[in-house]
Amino acid sequence: MVAAKLRKPSPARSRNMAAIRATDTKPEMIVRRLLHGAGFRYRLHRRDLPGKPDLSLPKWNAVIEVHGCFFHSHDCHLVKSRPEANREFWAAKLDGNVARDRRNADATRALGIRRLVVWQCALSGKEKLGEGSLLREICQWLQSGELTGELSGK
Ligand code: ZN
Repeated sequence: MVAAKLRKPSPARSRNMAAIRATDTKPEMIVRRLLHGAGFRYRLHRRDLPGKPDLSLPKWNAVIEVHGCFFHSHDCHLVKSRPEANREFWAAKLDGNVARDRRNADATRALGIRRLVVWQCALSGKEKLGEGSLLREICQWLQSGELTGELSGK
């Protein structure tokens, strides 16, 4: 119900968001390319798993989410602050994303499926890990058997 009361972002902001979203898909593509190149096989956005995770690796009983730092409210150098304009809209949207991430993480854990979050800052920006180390870190996590994991910029 709250959503109905929210103001839509201005056209300029919408264009901006579209641009952000377009570049946001790039980190996911990097992870897909790295894993595929290393021989991992995965499925994309499975509807039967909580939150339709970006990648799922049945062989490893694991899902991998690639999160944009702004849209998922990461506490890192890529996220300066929330936009000043349309404050309520952004608060509802971003807090909603965080709450949904938490629900998805819980639901995934309840299914006994492992979940790794790769943050955008691990892939781009001044603190990125570099593709070699990133792939190594993901492999290590997959082999570790850990239930959850997170990779962010250094
Ligand atoms: Zn980040």
